Amino acid sequence: MADWVERVLPSPTAMLESTVAQYQREGRTVYRLGLGQPDFPTPDRAKAAAIQAIQDNFTGYTDTSGILPLREAICRALHRDMGLSYEPGEIVVTVGGKHALFNAICTLCRPGDEVLIPVPYWVSFPEQVKFAGAKPVFVQTDASAGYKVTPESLAPLVNESTRLLILNQPNNPSGAVYSAEELLRLAEFCRERDLWVISDEVYSAFVFKPEGYTSIASFPGMRERTVVINAVSKSYGMTGWRIGYSAAPAAVTGAMLRLQSHTTSNPSSIAQQAALAAIDGPQDDLTDIRDEYAARRDILVEGVRRIKGLECSVPDGAFYVWVDASAWRGQALEGRTISTADDLADILLTKAGVAVMPGTGFGSPYHIRLSYAVSREEMENGIAAMESILGSK
Ligand code: GLU
Repeated sequence: MADWVERVLPSPTAMLESTVAQYQREGRTVYRLGLGQPDFPTPDRAKAAAIQAIQDNFTGYTDTSGILPLREAICRALHRDMGLSYEPGEIVVTVGGKHALFNAICTLCRPGDEVLIPVPYWVSFPEQVKFAGAKPVFVQTDASAGYKVTPESLAPLVNESTRLLILNQPNNPSGAVYSAEELLRLAEFCRERDLWVISDEVYSAFVFKPEGYTSIASFPGMRERTVVINAVSKSYGMTGWRIGYSAAPAAVTGAMLRLQSHTTSNPSSIAQQAALAAIDGPQDDLTDIRDEYAARRDILVEGVRRIKGLECSVPDGAFYVWVDASAWRGQALEGRTISTADDLADILLTKAGVAVMPGTGFGSPYHIRLSYAVSREEMENGIAAMESILGSK
C-alpha cells in the first residue's frame, strides 16, 4: 500500500461514533457527550426543498463547484455574516467542511512544506497535512493564554518551509474565539511572513461574546492569502447532508475545483437544494439555538467543576467544553491506573456509559472534550454518571 497508510491515523471522532452506535444496537444506555453533532433538526424549509428537488427530478450531476444559486447564496451569507465579498466563481461547494479542508490542504501544501497548527486542534488537520506529504508543526497554547496563538508564539516556529497556518475559531475543541485586535496582529504577521491561512469557520454561528465573530479574511491583504471554510452541518443541524464550502481567490479555487472534478465531482444535488434553502431563509432560529447552547454551556461548565480532578475554563464559542483531566494522571480508578485521557475516556464509556472524546487526537493527551450539542437531560445525566465514577470535589 501507499506510504500515507503508515503515516495517517484513523479519525477518532468517527471511531468513537461507531463504538457508540454498537453500544446502542446492544441496547445499552450511552450519554453522548463525544461526537460534536447538533441535536437540533434540519430546518423544515431545507427538508421541503430536498423533497421538492427529488420530485422535480433534480437528481443529475451539477456543476462540480455546486449549483450557481447556492454559490450566490453563499456569497450573500459571507457578506451578511462576515462582511466578506466573494464572487460565485470563488466558491466551491464540497462534501462537508472536511472535504473543503482536504481540497485546500492538497492545493496549498507541497511535499516538505510546514504547516502551523495551534494545539489543541481538530483531529483531521494534521492527518490531512500528512496525507499531502507536508509536515504539521504544532504551536502549543494553554488555558492562561485562552488557548490562542499570537505572533510571538508562532514566530520561533516559522522558517523558509513554513507555508500556512490553519486557524480554527471558534476552536474545536477549546471554544477559543479571537478578538478583532488579536486577529489583526495575526493577519499582519501572516502578511509579513508570507503565510497562507486556512480559516476553518464552521462554528462561526455559535459565538457567545457580545462582540460576535470576526473572520481573519476581513483584514487588509488577507483575502488574497486565505481559504475560508464553512459548512451547513453545525449551523443548521445538517451534518448528514454533507454540504460544506470554500471561499478563496480564483486561482486557488480553480485548482481545488480541478482536484474535485477528478474525485467526488459535485456533492449531492438534493443536499445542495436543502443547503440553499437553509442558508437563504430567515436566520432567526440561529439566535435561539445559540442562546440555548450558551445556557447548556453554563450547566456543563458548572457540572464539570463539581467533579473530582477535572478543571475547565468557560468557552466563548462552538459547543464543546475542553476539560483538563491531568490531575487523574497516575491515579487509580476502577482497578486501573490512568496513564492518559484515553484510559479515562474508556472507563467513562465502559463503566458509566458516558461517551467523551479523549484529548489525544486533539494533541492534548491529558484533556477530554465534552459536547453540549445534546439535550439538557442527556447532558445532566452524563455529568451525574461521570460524577458517580470520578467522585465530587
Ligand atoms: N467536527 C465534529 C467533531 O469534532 C464531527 C466529527 C468529525 O467529522 O470529525 O466531533
